[in-house]
Amino acid sequence: MTTDPIDRQNVRPRFWETYRLEDLPRNEWEALCDGCGKCCLLKLEDEDTGQVAYTSISCRLLDPDTCRCGNYALRKQLVAGCVIVTPETLETIVDWMPRSCAYRLLAEGETLPDWHPLISGTTDSVHKAGVSFAGTMTPEYEVEEDDLEDYIVEGML
Ligand code: SF4
Ligand code: SF4
Repeated sequence: MTTDPIDRQNVRPRFWETYRLEDLPRNEWEALCDGCGKCCLLKLEDEDTGQVAYTSISCRLLDPDTCRCGNYALRKQLVAGCVIVTPETLETIVDWMPRSCAYRLLAEGETLPDWHPLISGTTDSVHKAGVSFAGTMTPEYEVEEDDLEDYIVEGML
């Protein structure tokens, strides 16, 4: 979920500390996305355990350098497997969202880290903190389906 551009100017000061996720207006909800792009990495699910493993392969619509979706407005139409993060879907996906994801952090009672753009004031802080995979992802169209497992990232992101 990497909207572009993310408007972080017209939001209430530290709104995430005061209001519930489900009560946020759309612009504040969108502003919570730190733009890491990690949820846009391809994932593999173990058929037996249901465990989700992340790969370092980026969705074909993701810019692997900027971590921005190439067509945010039409993402679900263009990529059937794209997960739309909303207050309604969050509960069912939160367990496999990246641990650094703002939606997961807040849903689990944590607060935002200092590198989050809403606090740092710049999207670069996400990349400088090493939170995103910018510049290290392999685009989906460069990988054969049979080779997906070779790209599994060990551990939770
Ligand atoms: S993992 Fe969370 S913060 Fe990062 S791009 Fe996805 S929705 Fe945004
Ligand atoms: S279409 Fe791909 S790049 Fe765009 S938000 Fe969905 S998973 Fe991310």
